[in-house]
Amino acid sequence: LDFVWVGNHPGLDLCNTELVLDGEPVDLLRRPEDLQDWLTAVGAPARATATRPAPSTLRWAVRLRDALRAALDPTVDAPAPLAALNAVLASVRGAPAVTEDGRVELVARRAEDQRRLDLAALVLPALALDRHRIRRCADPACVLLFHDTSKGGQRRWHDMATCGNRAKAAAHYARTARARRR
Ligand SMILES: [Zn+2]
Repeated sequence: LDFVWVGNHPGLDLCNTELVLDGEPVDLLRRPEDLQDWLTAVGAPARATATRPAPSTLRWAVRLRDALRAALDPTVDAPAPLAALNAVLASVRGAPAVTEDGRVELVARRAEDQRRLDLAALVLPALALDRHRIRRCADPACVLLFHDTSKGGQRRWHDMATCGNRAKAAAHYARTARARRR
């Protein structure tokens, strides 16, 4: 199965590694190789993609994904507090270090910790997106999230060719069924 890149942000694309296909929930991050492939596709630094992640890092990435989704999903009543994300981050060991150009960054001594920091740095800026533009696909059978970057802010489906067409066909069927009853 291929990853889905409809989120317009790596954070939303990470949320979208868990999706629903033909009514069945599917998790695209099942093996460490899956996370390695996703990190490579999203353009993570080479140090995060050169080797296969540890199984514990895969489990950590899934926890981060779940907490991020809970904070971003516009259809839940109250977004999850940042404390839930911070609880996931708290297990990563890093220390401040100064870079060549004088910035202070968090760096890790262990490769797995650095990989987790690199993943977090890629996806968590999704929290800064305009929340009014974060949408869940209007197809009730679809769970995909996206940042609506369309000019008028009227994007409703994660993809016009699949969910959009299904909605159009359903509306057409309802109209013709009504017409037939008359
Ligand atoms: Zn959809």
